[in-house]
Amino acid sequence: MAETRRWPLRRIINVSLAVLAAFLLAALIGGGFALSRLGDARATVVGRIDPALQQALRLQSALVDQETGVRGYALGANEDVLNPYITGVTAQHEVAAQLGGLLTDLPDAAAQLRRVDDRVDQWRKVYAQPTIAEVARTGEPASTTSVEQGKAYFDRVRAALDGLQTRLNTARVNASDTLDGAATTTNIVLVAIAVGFALIVAALALGLRRAAIQPISRLAEEVRIVARGEFDHPVEQSGPREVRELGTDVNIMRERILQELSALQVAHAELDKRSTDLERSNAELEQFAYIASHDLQEPLRKVASFCQLLERRYKRQLDERADQYIAFAVDGAKRMQILINDLLAFSRVGRVVREHVVVSCDAVLEQALANLSYTIEQTGATIEADPLPDVSAEVPLLTTVFQNLIGNALKFRGDETPHVRVTVRRDGDFWEFGVADNGIGIDDEYAERIFVIFQRLHNKADYPGTGIGLAMCRKIVEFHGGRIWLDTTVESGSRFCFTLPVINEDEETDG
Ligand code: ADP
Repeated sequence: MAETRRWPLRRIINVSLAVLAAFLLAALIGGGFALSRLGDARATVVGRIDPALQQALRLQSALVDQETGVRGYALGANEDVLNPYITGVTAQHEVAAQLGGLLTDLPDAAAQLRRVDDRVDQWRKVYAQPTIAEVARTGEPASTTSVEQGKAYFDRVRAALDGLQTRLNTARVNASDTLDGAATTTNIVLVAIAVGFALIVAALALGLRRAAIQPISRLAEEVRIVARGEFDHPVEQSGPREVRELGTDVNIMRERILQELSALQVAHAELDKRSTDLERSNAELEQFAYIASHDLQEPLRKVASFCQLLERRYKRQLDERADQYIAFAVDGAKRMQILINDLLAFSRVGRVVREHVVVSCDAVLEQALANLSYTIEQTGATIEADPLPDVSAEVPLLTTVFQNLIGNALKFRGDETPHVRVTVRRDGDFWEFGVADNGIGIDDEYAERIFVIFQRLHNKADYPGTGIGLAMCRKIVEFHGGRIWLDTTVESGSRFCFTLPVINEDEETDG
């Protein structure tokens, strides 16, 4: 079996089929032979010997009829009594011909039949025909001596007939024995075929199971272990060639996966390290921005207030140029203060975590508009808003988002009176808000840049500002789990979009 395990599956199946076919052929030949012997033996008994025995009996009665006819005629000289003799002769010829045909395979019996014929001929020639002729001529019964003589001749015929009968009986006994033997042989052959077939099928099933099915199941089990994630589990290779080749392929695949996995793990570790580094340097930067802006506030406040003091006290006391220098210093200090305050607000986002509450965006928008009321009044702007949903947020931060976006829409207005439209739609688990204006618009190429801190597209003389507003909006929106972007599909004005997660029902009822 160890040898066959190394065979290819095709050869195992072919050999199994060949064994089965050879057995079936042998069974066919053996069975056919036994059945044909049985048929021959039965044909001999039923088709030849039994009819021959019957014909032998008919022959006997035809001869006895002849003898009775002749004896009666000889004793009584009555012609009517001779009839059995005449019909007996005809019947004898007919029966002898048929019997001769049946005895071609039995030379002994055929010889005996010829002997009967010879003796009957002798009896007829020497006794019957002369006696009939004599009685017919004289019209007198024959002598008792003659009748006795005829009887003696016929006894020889009887003896030959008995011999024929005996030979036929012996032949029948032999043929019966042959028939029984053939029937027994046939039975044995059929039983042997059935048992042999069962044994071969069982052996083939067992062999196929051990040589093919078990190795395939083993391979499947091994592959399943690998599929469960144990990539370092080597797949055992056994069984037919195809199964072993499959095992080899799985091993190659497994090793490839292992290699890729280890490369991936290295890359992952590298990425982890980098993102940790990045997080640390980001935190350091934020820390730095916070500390710098916080610590700068105090000296700056001092510089600004002393510059203002200088301005108030010495304005028009020095020459005109001195007044101008002082004005520059005051302006610079004021702008620096705004910048520092904005930066501080920016670096506070996410640093000081206040509780998120469920709040109506309508209320948040209202607060933002209240903060912008002066500008709205100044510009005559109109603000239009959809009914807005409730969200979970830090209210002051969310107010800043609306305020910065709407404030920009008013600041970067064109010649027309500003018109701002606030919309909202649901997109899966998020609300998508839109703030659109009819202002000067933004070129698509700046869509990303404008969200970077201190990045501005305009001169501060044309549009005042620090370049922190949108960076702040992005930080706040991302802090709330959403994202913000410039909608580059609008044809005029600009439109900012941002998303916030839809609150689940539990939160809503809590709020
Ligand atoms: P700031 O408004 O202080 O300049 P922001 O970060 O708010 O800074 O905006 C960055 C830049 O994006 C602005 O300087 C401006 O050029 C552009 N921008 C922002 N909002 C709009 C808007 N609604 N229309 C046109 N340009 C805008």
